[in-house]
Amino acid sequence: MTDIAAGPVIQAHDVHKSFGNLDVLKGIDLTVARGEVVCLLGASGSGKSTFLRCINHLETVDRGFILVDGRLIGSDLVRGRLHEARPSVVTERRSRIGMVFQQFNLFGHMTVLENVILAPMRVKKETREVAIERAVRLLGRVGLGNKQDSYPGHLSGGQQQRVAIARALAMEPTLMLFDEPTSALDPELVGEVLDVMRDLAASGMTMMVVTHEMGFARQVASTAVFMSEGRIVEQGPPEKVIGAPDHERTRAFLGKVL
Ligand code: ADP
Ligand code: MG
Repeated sequence: MTDIAAGPVIQAHDVHKSFGNLDVLKGIDLTVARGEVVCLLGASGSGKSTFLRCINHLETVDRGFILVDGRLIGSDLVRGRLHEARPSVVTERRSRIGMVFQQFNLFGHMTVLENVILAPMRVKKETREVAIERAVRLLGRVGLGNKQDSYPGHLSGGQQQRVAIARALAMEPTLMLFDEPTSALDPELVGEVLDVMRDLAASGMTMMVVTHEMGFARQVASTAVFMSEGRIVEQGPPEKVIGAPDHERTRAFLGKVL
């Protein structure tokens, strides 16, 4: 048995993905260690969301592979041959990856608390009591202890996004993926969401964050990765990639967002 806890959380090797004749990912290699915070930077259309969706198995890869916690999410290696994993196994593995989107995707007809307890009860078959206990704790952690009975429509965008983070954490993920979590927010609400993400990073969560918030990336990322046209152009410490990039494309991108 390999010790999964000791290995990398993400191992992506030569990942290719096309939609029709559009080649979106052209050979991505990336390793993310436990507790690392990777900020994924790049212009619109460079393939950032597609890569996150491949990690989370919302898309399948055409070539190469992605291991999460040492496993292929959609298949198993049995006696040297790949077999498609059973849907219930895929669901269980995916449930260990939290994802937060630009649009918060909360259920508008459910209270904040109901939004947070839904997946643990449905997918993990937790009792309502156990799910509520954790949800209350998590809502406190994101600063929304007093909003559990509110409906999403009555909350600000920043509050809704913090609920979405609590909801993802309720599944006790080993990896959190964020796809431009603050891009849909009014500027004055960005900080409260970044603060929650900063706390999460400090707690040791492994995170991969697509963001245009360069201040956050410089402060929180252990590694900054710059993608362009489906390839990783450069990666390294944020002070290097954002502060003194090697590549002209990175400089051109930073010139637009900074
Ligand atoms: P980014 O997140 O960096 O802006 P995306 O991964 O969303 O980039 O998209 C990369 C390219 O792939 C874009 O040209 C986009 O239009 C295309 N694309 C993404 N998803 C699909 C899809 N499901 N079908 C067809 N084209 C897609
Ligand atoms: Mg995107």
